[in-house]
Amino acid sequence: MAAGRALVLFSGGQDSTTALAWALARFDAVETVGFDYGQRHRVELACRETIRRALPHVVPELATRLGRDHMLDLASLGAISETALTREAEIGFAETGLPTTFVPGRNLIFLTFAAALAYRRDCRHIVLGVCETDYSGYPDCRDDTVKAMQVALGLGLDRRLVLHTPLMWRDKAQTFALARRLGGEPLLDLVVEESHSCYLGDRETRHAWGYGCGHCPACDLRAKGFAAYELAPDDSGPHHDD
Ligand code: ZN
Repeated sequence: MAAGRALVLFSGGQDSTTALAWALARFDAVETVGFDYGQRHRVELACRETIRRALPHVVPELATRLGRDHMLDLASLGAISETALTREAEIGFAETGLPTTFVPGRNLIFLTFAAALAYRRDCRHIVLGVCETDYSGYPDCRDDTVKAMQVALGLGLDRRLVLHTPLMWRDKAQTFALARRLGGEPLLDLVVEESHSCYLGDRETRHAWGYGCGHCPACDLRAKGFAAYELAPDDSGPHHDD
């Protein structure tokens, strides 16, 4: 296990919940940060609290390293964003080829705020659950974007920060498998039951893969990923970053 303190960008979704478990298995002390930017699926903010409270029961040996949570208000990001994630607009694809749920600059802003917080909290490591393999084409989830941000933040803060993206080369099925490897069936069950993906914020309709409308792109990815996971539940994802 790597020594040190880590800050995890934790939204309450499948990916960031798995990234949080990965960080707990790896670092001495782990804090979490979440962002309220007026997202339509604000229900995920309640899910993150539920997940944090459940972790000591689900993975007690890992949860001893779980420290403070930080919620940052980024309402101004929602105010300047004309997107389907922050407005009552149709979820689909824009003329740019990008999904209308793309919030321009979102991860760049998240990382900048997270780095400022990590600086104050003396965390050298920042962990985020972005993924280039099975994503919706968001350019700020790309490996090159994250690596460029690591360089920019390290220079701008004059402090070495390491950005970790344990899910970058995993698809959704492999992310389910990673959760099971890290915390067994109890952690996988927690991810399925309490983590939130649906863009419309549906937590009424329960599927085998968790709650969601079942139709939006986020539900679609999650449903297909879970079906593929059930066919091949062993963790075949890349282990080089473990
Ligand atoms: Zn949905």
